[in-house]
Order: sequence, then structure tokens, then C-alpha cells
Amino acid sequence: MPNPPSTCAKAQLIHAPSRPTITGHTSIFLAGTTTSDPAKPDWRETLTTALTHLPITILNPLRPDWKSLLPEDASHAPFREQVEWELDMQERADLVVVYFGAATDAPISLLELGLSKPLIRHATNALPTVECAPSPDFTNPSLRGPVPFVPREPGKVSWYACGPTTYDLSHLGHARNYVSTDIIRRILMHHFGFKVYFVMNYTDIDDKIIIKARRKRLLELEREKPYTPEQIRDLITKAFLAYAESNLSLLTSQPGLDEHNYLERRDAAYGSVLAGGTLSGEGKPGDAEAKVKMHLSNMDSAAKSLRESTGFDGAEEVLLPYLDSLYKETIDTSDQTIFTNLTQAMEKAFNDDMQALNVLPPDAVTRVTEYVPQIVAFVEQIIKKGFAYEANGSVYFDIAAFEKAGNTYARLRPESKNDKALQEEGEGSLSKSLEGKKRPGDFALWKKSKPGEPYWPSPWGAGRPGWHIECSVMASDKLGEQMDIHSGGIDLAFPHHDNELAQSEAYFHQGKEHTWVNYFLHMGHLSIAGSKMSKSLKNFQTIQDALATTYTSRNMRIVFLMGRWNDGVEISQDMRKQADSWESTVDNFFTNVKAKLAAAGSSTDGLEKLSLENDSKAQALLDELERAKKDLDAAFRNSFDTPGAMQVILRLVRDANIYMNDKSVEPSLAAIEAVARWVTKVVGILGLDAGAQPPYDGLGWTSSGAAAAGDVDPQTAVKPYAEAYAKVKADVQALGLSAQSIQTLLEQQQPESEFAELEKSGERDVEKLAMPYLRATSRLRDELRTIVSTLEPASKQAVLALSDRIRDYDLTDLGVQLDDQIDKPSLIKFVPAARLIAAREEKAALVAEKARQKEEARKAREKADEEKWAKAKVSPQDMFKADAKYSEWDADGLPTKLADGSEVPKSQVKKLKKEWERQKKLHEEYLAKFGSA
Ligand SMILES: [Zn+2]
Repeated sequence: MPNPPSTCAKAQLIHAPSRPTITGHTSIFLAGTTTSDPAKPDWRETLTTALTHLPITILNPLRPDWKSLLPEDASHAPFREQVEWELDMQERADLVVVYFGAATDAPISLLELGLSKPLIRHATNALPTVECAPSPDFTNPSLRGPVPFVPREPGKVSWYACGPTTYDLSHLGHARNYVSTDIIRRILMHHFGFKVYFVMNYTDIDDKIIIKARRKRLLELEREKPYTPEQIRDLITKAFLAYAESNLSLLTSQPGLDEHNYLERRDAAYGSVLAGGTLSGEGKPGDAEAKVKMHLSNMDSAAKSLRESTGFDGAEEVLLPYLDSLYKETIDTSDQTIFTNLTQAMEKAFNDDMQALNVLPPDAVTRVTEYVPQIVAFVEQIIKKGFAYEANGSVYFDIAAFEKAGNTYARLRPESKNDKALQEEGEGSLSKSLEGKKRPGDFALWKKSKPGEPYWPSPWGAGRPGWHIECSVMASDKLGEQMDIHSGGIDLAFPHHDNELAQSEAYFHQGKEHTWVNYFLHMGHLSIAGSKMSKSLKNFQTIQDALATTYTSRNMRIVFLMGRWNDGVEISQDMRKQADSWESTVDNFFTNVKAKLAAAGSSTDGLEKLSLENDSKAQALLDELERAKKDLDAAFRNSFDTPGAMQVILRLVRDANIYMNDKSVEPSLAAIEAVARWVTKVVGILGLDAGAQPPYDGLGWTSSGAAAAGDVDPQTAVKPYAEAYAKVKADVQALGLSAQSIQTLLEQQQPESEFAELEKSGERDVEKLAMPYLRATSRLRDELRTIVSTLEPASKQAVLALSDRIRDYDLTDLGVQLDDQIDKPSLIKFVPAARLIAAREEKAALVAEKARQKEEARKAREKADEEKWAKAKVSPQDMFKADAKYSEWDADGLPTKLADGSEVPKSQVKKLKKEWERQKKLHEEYLAKFGSA
């Protein structure tokens, strides 16, 4: 009997090998019975009541007095025996029930007992979704929207991901696809504890590969020919016209296009598209417009090369298709190295990119070139079953026959079933001329190879596999007739995945419809300026370039985590800012916690030493931590809601920061450390720390500061710190200070022996090994600052200068930041040196800028002064004498007549008198200051 719809929530409680059905008598074991909160309703009681009408036996029924049996203290040790008993019981049960609701953390608590190995299998019975299936058959892959995830085998996930076509470098759109896939894979593995078997293919036979490799070769050959400049110009002109003809028809609607009238024609025909408009004049620009722009850019470059006579340079993009149209059949493809050279180089570049992005390598990889005989056999079987036919040396899938036998075609995207453009794209650009299809929707399983195309033998003649068939064959070979998850970018849904489904279900068809894939995951696109980022549109940034110029691997992953894996995303400035702010918040938190723990002497060993009596604020933080754990779990369960998860982390870190900076309490380091360790675990699970390994129980980034020494020799690793200390010590000695406290430090600090002890104890974390030297250095500096007020001015200045140098140069250059604290030793933090140096330089630039402004203001004042006194020097009696406007003056020097001999008008006299008075005052001031000389 299937689970009735009303027990949908309970369907998540029960974990069974396949769908939870209870037929006949079933024994159930209720796992996770060692810990429970007596104050809350017990889920086992609830479940037992709910299941009373079913024919089941509960192997470990609750005793009426179970609450009294619960442990009083939280120590787990006495329960090890019970856990082992539980494991044994679980083996015997038909069904194991584990509860993952909010009322208890049973499985998590079980994991903490240290028996994580056998328990993980059971704890993984989690279902990472929230909604119930809208159909009783929730394994139907045509369903969209969240459905409960129930793997075929408890705790195990089989997964096939469509990998790259290895013909070019990967771009950010690929990065989003593979990083999102990696994030989901890591969450399934390291949060839910599934054992995931992940298979990925490389498509190394493909029309795009053939075209790219062949054209590249033809251009190389062409460059070697002994052409005259005129012949080259003639060739490029033909290529230029052919390119316009086939891609930008508006340019050639009138005859006579050449490199001189090109720009004019371009602007007349496509000016509106270049200005951000659309071809139709309506709506928003999309892929069609992006394509036009891409073609125009190739034409721009070719026209320029013709105008400036630069030969082949700049004209490559128009030459490649033209040369291909002339000479493609001349390429000898019995030697496949021109293709394999390309695919092998691109496969390596892809793997390098993935490693740089901290994407876990697949558990198994497959290549089409290594599967051709199996593909031929697979196709033969489909023909034998009546679902494919041969025509003119190619083999096509017979959709009509497939549907007639009771199967459904295009289950993923029924609405795209007759989409010609998508169908054509799926068939590949070299396959348009293949003939013999019964119906336009039928797709190639095997393509006849034409001259100039690589080929393999088959019963239908020399040819090569169609695109979709490879995944059907390779996935079935690795994972059998059914898999849990199949993934790829959203554009693979139709026709690629629908065709894969049809082929595989035809292959495995046994009189009734076969389910080949239980869950499809389609990653959302990354778009740029409204268009999908893609190679064919050339609107991409390669991963190599992005990592060299724009992102670190970590902040790219954070940007992707901020969007839902299945949503289309356009990276905005705002998203970048949010991601940067998230990263620096977590970064600073780790740095501060580490510094505080180091200052306290040693780590607190987690929660064990927590003393929370009378510390309600610490308890509140720990409550927040518990809530965050539940919220994070709920986010992951909600179709891997990583934006939600990122918010949970951010909120918790902010709470912890508020607590840490609360001046009213001495913060509990144990509580803060517990938060930091959990955050470390989560960022580890999300793949944000390339240096970290599961179970991610470190503290902070492994690669931060000078850490991650790996197998570096401790002596070598601490050498820079030891040298910095030696230099500081010598400089302090040279100051010849008489203060006793300084003398004591100089004589008694023994960082060398502290370090030696750490080294002997096996410590290999460079930050910890360096700490004795850093502490000694910092203490000396703290003491210098303490005594400085008692010193004579000259020594004072020397001491302050040294203290600043230690902080701003000696330690900064080592990636160590000192935070001065009141009445406490300075806090020692590890921060990447580059960041500290950049901050120092920025500060220095600011100081320099201030000084420059000050100097400028001083000069301006000086100049104004000079002008003022120059003016003041003139006596009022002389001030109007030099003015040619006047011809006579009175005894005081006031003008009486104008230049033409007429009287100075009364209105003017008043004004002149006023000016005269003002000058008199100014001149008196001048005389007072400089004397009459
Ligand atoms: Zn595929």
C-alpha cells in the first residue's frame, strides 16, 4: 500500500530502499534514541501512534518509563554500548526511521558520539527537499519543482553529469555550471552524508571540435603558401564578402560591399542593434542581437585589415569559414591527431580550471573516443527493438515508433518537442546536409562522416556517434540501467537530455516504460547583458582570465552561492559587493577569533570546558548557534537553498561579533570558538576553503596568513618571525633605555625554547609555531609604549618611531597585524601581507595627500599676504595719481578733474573718497608693520 497522501510529511520520516511502501509485515527500528529532550514531545511516540493501523513491528518500542532513563549529564560515553546495539538492530530492521525534524537533532547527536562511520549511512536517510511530490509517482523525471529525494540505495547516490565539449577554453558560464554542481555534490556528501559516485564525460567527438580543429589547420596551411600581397588581399576580400553574405545579409542587399563603404553600410543596417536596440525594433536585445554584434565585430576587424593591408592578421575570423568551404575535403582524417591535439589540450585546460575553482574531480570520467564500439552496439540494440532506422549511412531515432510502444518523448520539455532551432542545434552544424530522416524531429544516433570529418567503422559505414548517444551509453556503462541523478546546464534539457532519455529507455525497454533517471538537476545560466554567456556568441570571459584579473576562486564561488543553482543569474556590481562583504565579514571573524584564542594562550577544546553559569549572553549565542544549525539544515533541504544558507552564516557571525565586542562582559572564548568552528565546517562543506579536508573540523581558513605549511620544515617556516624578533630585540637594546621592565623582557623572554617545545610536540601549524616570536616582539613593543611617557623628548621620538616601525613594517611585511588594546597586550592577527601592505600604502598616500594640501594652503596664504602688502605700500595720496582717467588731483591726492578736463561727477567723488579712506587705513597698517622706509 503506498503512503496515503495525508502522510506526506511522514513519508520523509521513513527511509526505504525505494519508495516508502509498506506491504506485508514490516519491522521498523527507530534510530537516534540516545538523546532527546524530555521537555519536548517525543517523535517516537508520535510516530508509533501514527503507525498503529499498519502491519508493523517496532523493534525498539518505547518503554512507558523511558523519560526516567535519560541521562542526567550530557556525557555521551556510557551510551557507546547502546549505540552499538542500535546499529546491530538497524541491520536487522526492514526499515530504519530517522527523524530530521526541528524537535530533536537525533542523528546529528549520534554522529557526535564518534561512531560516525557506520552511522553516517543511517543519518543520510535525510531527504533534501521540502515539498511533497505533486504526483504519487515522484520518481517521474518530468516533474518540475521540488520533490523528496530518495536514492535508489539508502545512503548512496549515483550521478552522471554531462561534461565539457573539449574544443575551447571554458568561460564563466561553465564555471557557474560546474561550481554549482560541485556545491550540490559536496552538500549531499558532507552535510547529508551520502556516498556519492559521480561520473562525468568529456565530449571529444563533436561537430564543433571538427570545425575548430580543421579550420585552424587550414589557416596554418594557407599562411604557408607563397602568396603575393595582392593574392592575399584578393583571398581576404572574397572571405569578407562570403562572411557578410551568410551572416549579415543586410550588408549585401545591394551589390558592391567593400572595406571602404563597410562602416557606412554597417551603421545604416545595424546601427540600432549596435546602439543597444533590437533587430525588430521592439523589446529587449537577446541572443539574436548578441550574435549580430559578434559577427559585426569579426567584420570590423577584417575590414580594418583590408584597409590597412595587414594581411592575414585581423582577418582570421572571416577566413576560417571561407577556407573551410574551399578545402575542408582535402584534410586527411585517417590521421585524427589534428582533432585529438585540440581535445587533449582543452581537456587539460578544463581540468586546470576546475582545480583552480576547487571543484572536486569526478570519481570516474569517460571519453567518447574510448566508447565508439560500445556506442555502435547500443545503437544496434535500439534498431533491433524497432526504435531506430538506418538511412544513407546514418542512423536516426524513430520517435513515432517509440511513442507508439507506449513511451513518452520529450518528457523534460514537452513544449520544446517541435522546436526546430533547438533540434537543429542539437544535431550539429555539419549534419544539416545528412538525408534520410523520416520525420524532422528524429535525431541522429550515428552520423555518416563526409570527407574532412573523422570517422570510425560501423555496420552502416564510416561515421561517428551522434551527440546524445554518448551519454546514454557511457552513463549506462558506469551506472547501470538506472541512476539517481543526471545533471547539466539548463540548455541541455532539450533536446540533449530528452534524447538521452528516449535512447536509453528505448534500449532498456521491456514492454513497458523504463525509468532511466530518477532526478534531473539543471543548472541555471549565467547571462551577460541579457544574453546567455556562450562561446558561439563570444560574449564570455574565460575562467583563466577571470581568475587572473577579476576574482579569486573563493569570491567567485561566493557569488555563485548567492544565487539559486537553478536560477538564471546575471552578475551585477551589487552581487559582487554583497559577496565581497560576506567574505570580509567571515574573514575578519576568523582572524579575530584566532587572535583572541592565541592571546588566551591556547584553544579551549570546544564545548567541553564551557562554563556558562551566570553567562546568559554566552548561552544566548550558543542558542543562536543551535538555531543556525537547524536553519542551515532547512536551507540545504530546501532544494539546496544556498542563498538562504549564506544568510544563516552571516547572521550568526554578526551575532557573534556583537557578543565579542560587548564591553559589558568578558566574552566566553569557548562560545565564540564553538561558533567559529561550526562556520569553518560549513564553509568547508561549501568548498570555500581549498586547503581544507572533511570533516572540516579546523578553525578558520586553512590558507590564511602564513598557515598551510604542509610539509615545510618548522625551522624554515618560522625563520622570518625569528629574524624579525632578533632585529627588534637588537634595536631596543641599542636604544640603551634604562627602564627595568624593558631590561627584564630583553633578558627573560625565551621564544626560542617555547618554539622548540611546540616543534617537539608535533605542532605544524605555522601560525601557532610563529606565535612565541610574535608574542615576544609584541610584548617588547607594548612595553616601549608603556614607558614612553617617562622619557626625554629625544628618546621619546626614537622609541615611538621604533614602535611604529615594528607594527607598520616588521610585522606587516610578515602578514601580522597588531591591534592595540587598552590595558591589555596587543592582539596578534594573521592577515594576508598583501592586504596589510596595501592598507599601509593607502594610509601613507592619504598622509602625503594631506601634507600636500596643507602646503598648498600655506603657499596660497603667503601669496595673498604678499599681494595685500604690495597694495598697502601705496599711500592714499598716490593711489589715484597713476590713473589715466584723471587729470587733476587735490592735496590729498583725490581726483578733481577727469582726463577730458571736466569735473569729476559728485556720485563718483563719494565712491573715490570711500576707496581713499580704505587705502589710508591699510597704508597705516603697513607703516605700523614695516615702518615708513
Ligand atoms: Zn550528455
